[in-house]
Order: sequence, then C-alpha cells, then structure tokens
Amino acid sequence: MFNKTKIIATVGPASNSKENIKTLIESGVDVFRLNFSHGEHEDHLKVINYILEANEEMNTHVGILADLQGPKIRLGIVENDSIELITGSEILITRHKKESTAQELYITYEPLAQDIREGNRILIDDGKVELRVIATNSIDQVRAKVMHGGILSSKKGVNLPDTNISAASLTPKDIRDLEFILTQKIDWIALSFVRSPNDMIHLRGIMTFKNNTITKIIAKIERPEAVENIEAIIREADAIMVARGDLGVEIPVEKVPLVQKDIVAKCIAYAKPVIIATQMMESMIEKTLPMRAEVTDVANAILDGADAIMLSGETAMGKHPPLVVKTMTRIAKEMEEKGNIYSKYHTYSNRKANTFVSDDVCSNACRIADEIDARAITGMTVSGYTAFMLACNRPKADIFIFTNRRENLSLFSLIWGVRTFFYDKFTTTDETMVDVAAILKEKGFVNPGDFIVMTASMPLHESGRTNTIRVKEMPRY
Ligand code: PGA
Ligand code: MN
Repeated sequence: MFNKTKIIATVGPASNSKENIKTLIESGVDVFRLNFSHGEHEDHLKVINYILEANEEMNTHVGILADLQGPKIRLGIVENDSIELITGSEILITRHKKESTAQELYITYEPLAQDIREGNRILIDDGKVELRVIATNSIDQVRAKVMHGGILSSKKGVNLPDTNISAASLTPKDIRDLEFILTQKIDWIALSFVRSPNDMIHLRGIMTFKNNTITKIIAKIERPEAVENIEAIIREADAIMVARGDLGVEIPVEKVPLVQKDIVAKCIAYAKPVIIATQMMESMIEKTLPMRAEVTDVANAILDGADAIMLSGETAMGKHPPLVVKTMTRIAKEMEEKGNIYSKYHTYSNRKANTFVSDDVCSNACRIADEIDARAITGMTVSGYTAFMLACNRPKADIFIFTNRRENLSLFSLIWGVRTFFYDKFTTTDETMVDVAAILKEKGFVNPGDFIVMTASMPLHESGRTNTIRVKEMPRY
C-alpha cells in the first residue's frame, strides 16, 4: 500500500508550483527539500505554503526539510563566461572580489590564505580541475600549480579537502536563513559541511534561544573530519545525510561506497534516520529511463536499510520530476517485497542507559511481530522516541504511530516504515488499543485474522516510556 523507504524530492524551478507539488506527492514523495543555496526567502515561502496546502487538501503529512548552504566555497564570475586553466601552469588565487582569469582566480572563501598550507589541494567543479598550493602569503593571496587543467565557468564549487576550515559551519547567510526558517513550519533543518558535534550544538543553541524544540537537525556528512568523527556526530544529530556530491570530492571517490554503508549501519544501530543523497537518478534529469547503474545504486541503498533516498537536480530542474519519483517508488517496492532488509534488531551496549528497558521492549515487539508474521506494529508517543525505536529494528510489519502532538505527523515522514496518525483520546490502555485497532481496520491497513503487535506505556496518563506489548488478533468475522 505504501513504501517503507521514504523519498525526498528537492523543489526547484521544475517543481515549484502547487500543481507540481501535488503530483509529486501522488507519485510517492514523503519529504520536500528546500535548498537554501538557491532562491530568495519569498520563493521558499511560496513553496512552504503550497506544501502545507497540499497536505490539507490531500490529507497527507508530507514533511519539509530546509537545507542550509553552510560554508560552501565557490569560484567567482569568470572572464568571458569561461576560462581555461593549463596543466602545469602557475596561477594566483585571491580573496578580493574580481573577475577570474586564467592567471588569477577569485574564490569566495575569506580566510583562504590563512587556512591553506603548502601542498594542499584546491579542487574545482567536482574535482575536475585540481590545483596544488605552492605558497601562501597568509593574508589574501595563494600561489598554486595547475595539476589537472580544464575549462571553468562562473560559480563552480570549490573543495579544500586537505585544509582545516576555520569558518563556522553556520555562516552569516545561514544565520539569516535560519531566522526565516524558524518562523515557518519546517520539520527538519540540514546543516552542511558538519565537522564535529559542536556544529549541531551551536545550531541547537540558536533554535532553543528561539524557543524551537520541535524542529530536528540533520548532519550532512561531506567533509573528511565528519567521517572521522562519525559516531559522535550521529549521537548529537537527529538524523544523518550521506551527501555524496561533496563527499565524493572531499574524500577519494572509491572510499564513498564503504563509508556510505558504514554510516547506514551505525545510524540504524543508534536509531537515527539516515538519508542517501545525490546523483541517485542523475540521468533522468534529461532522460525518461534511468541508467542501470543508477537503479542498482538506489536498490543497494534500500537493501542496506537507508531510511530515505533523496533526489536533487532530478526534481529541482529536471525534465520529468513525477516520473523519477515513480521510478524510485517502483524500485523501493520491489526491494521491500523481495529483498532482505528486515529484522535488524537493536542490540544494546549499555544496559545502564536510562532508555534500556523501553528500547528492549520495542526491539522485542518487533521480534514478536516478525515471528508471528504480524501485519502491523503500533506505538503511542508524545516525544516520538518510540517511532524512532520501533523503526530502527526494521520489522517487516507496517509501523503505525499514534501521537497527540500534531508536529510529529510530518516530522515522522522521514522515518523508515512509519505512518503517523493524530490521536488524543488517551483514556485507558484497553480503550486506546481497541480504538487503534478499529482505526487501522477502518482504513484498510489490517484485515480479519491479522495480528497486530501493540506497544504502549502503562498507565497511559503518565506518558512514560514504552513498557507494554500486547498481541491482538483481528476478529475473523
Ligand atoms: P548539496 O548537498 O546538494 O547541498 O551540495 C548534497 C551533496 O553534497 O551531496
Ligand atoms: Mn553538498
């Protein structure tokens, strides 16, 4: 009836009308991503309202992810629209804004000359052009040798994989964007070029200052330091994005596949949602059929157990956004029906953790559900903790979460397998369980004779941690 793997679609010129948003939701989008590297606040505001209206009209809970640009470095404007750097030549790089030429490049990173060291690489346009630093004056200029030349156009991305970046992960632009984002109904904020858990602590501090305790933080893994600090970052973040676009330039590209698999496994172990991003269906920006390699890439991300797979240019500026989403949906359906992605029961290293008992209850609820071939698992939650905890066990049964906090409805749209309902009649556990079963039956999610594994916190009114498992067999009449 629906996929367990969630689909994120980036909104852009190819999709930023209300009609397009609705068509994409029908095609299978669970979360829309607003990319704050592009567009004005008023453009984003329009899209946010389209999504909220679409949710109202279609009775859906599609989530919104605001992606902050972070300290993304770019080449400035180049002379005559394109310049050619010649392999073996020597060039100057400046931090003073001017038109770039084949002899002198302007790069939009103020502390470049202070941060960079002799021998560091400067990679331009996804690494297609490589420079190596000969010397820096530590003020405003750097001399470099062109190792791999090529033709460059304006505003191409620049990566400094060997350099310790002194700039904060939240740039002045990000802070301005955040001011706007925190006035809107946004579910997730993604932080780019995260290097350490402090980056999230900084962002969370600003959100707390603004009295926002709802919106959750995604750490984008695209710097070598983030790969090194991955466990600490996973613990601090609410979710992780494997941002393969920049990551594949910042670390050797052949290292990306195992880094990706390692991050997915660790996120499942820590019960944090994990997104695989960038170039998943790149060829469908133009074409109506994906490349075989892309289909297998999407399938492998799903088989590894990723919570969500993300589309960028494909839906932002491609020719066939709904078709791309439908194709992804079909791949997910096939993998989820036939693939081996289930039963990754949570294992505990820390029995002293104050969540240990409820974590163990959730894990065992999923184990029972798998063993008795249950159709559904249900959870009741205010904080949402149970939703994350049930999902990380990757049960085969569908997960239905009932919550009395409306903000959770779209927030959980990112979590693997989870469907969420509003429910605020917390009277007795018995009554609630009868209600929940009736709702699932009425909506056609369970049939006569199906088993439902229900979890709850007894007594309900104390809204403590999950401590109860009940197996219900739906009447056969
Ligand atoms: P971006 O992040 O699209 O904001 O650059 C994703 C990535 O780098 O893969
Ligand atoms: Mn990136």
